[in-house]
Amino acid sequence: MGVIRVTVSKPEMPQSELSAQPRRPTMLLRTLWRRFIPHRCTLCRNIFEGTGALCGDCRSDLTDCSDSCRCCLADLASSALDRCGPCLVRPRFFRASAAVRYRGAAQALIREFKFRNRPRLAHTLALLMVESRLRQGGYLPQLLIPTPLHPSRLAERGYNQAALLGQQCARILGVDCDPFALERRGAKTPVAQLSRRERQAAVRGAMTCRRKLNASTRIALIDDVMTSGATCSEAERALRRAGARDVEIWVFAHRALGDGDLGAEERT
Ligand SMILES: [Zn+2]
Ligand SMILES: [Zn+2]
Repeated sequence: MGVIRVTVSKPEMPQSELSAQPRRPTMLLRTLWRRFIPHRCTLCRNIFEGTGALCGDCRSDLTDCSDSCRCCLADLASSALDRCGPCLVRPRFFRASAAVRYRGAAQALIREFKFRNRPRLAHTLALLMVESRLRQGGYLPQLLIPTPLHPSRLAERGYNQAALLGQQCARILGVDCDPFALERRGAKTPVAQLSRRERQAAVRGAMTCRRKLNASTRIALIDDVMTSGATCSEAERALRRAGARDVEIWVFAHRALGDGDLGAEERT
């Protein structure tokens, strides 16, 4: 995706008029700031030249999901196919996309974003999500619905990371986001270490949709990480019960077997 830079030359202004322009000193300071304050990587904090939030090293440590099944994100046996065996027979989701694999810099970004109180990273993560989603092509979603957080978890963390990602992606794409559409009920269950079957049982019936949805609206369910897909399946079912037809699963990272080990905070 190309970056378009627009340079607007400002008209010369006599020195005597400078004092009459209250915005002028701010603009000058901003120019000086941009010129002399070094650009730091959002993740490793190293100084780097160039644009964007991440330095070259952190960016090159991100692994994309181009070799994953487009309906469930499982690894593909052959690059000639875009779906895995089971999804060729019966697609698990209408569509599933992840910007990166949950390892290296991606895992570090999620740790900082979710467990170390850095909600502002949502913008960086959302840019990576939109960048990869645009690369994949196809119709873009019209309404983004984030996965809800259990109320007690929300009180603990202070923010729902999926809702922040949804809002940022919606802002970049110019579409709607409804962070209150889905509601989570029941007991808080840490599912990070459970098997797929155990996760499915733990989240069954845990979500309801508070609004009616239109079958013709292209909806994307937004989450930060998809592991077994049990939470996404449950949320997708709730959206379909409310009238949605084709629900795309759109996450920042996919954690497959063999990806980064979970730290203590990620197991909660
Ligand atoms: Zn970096
Ligand atoms: Zn699949």
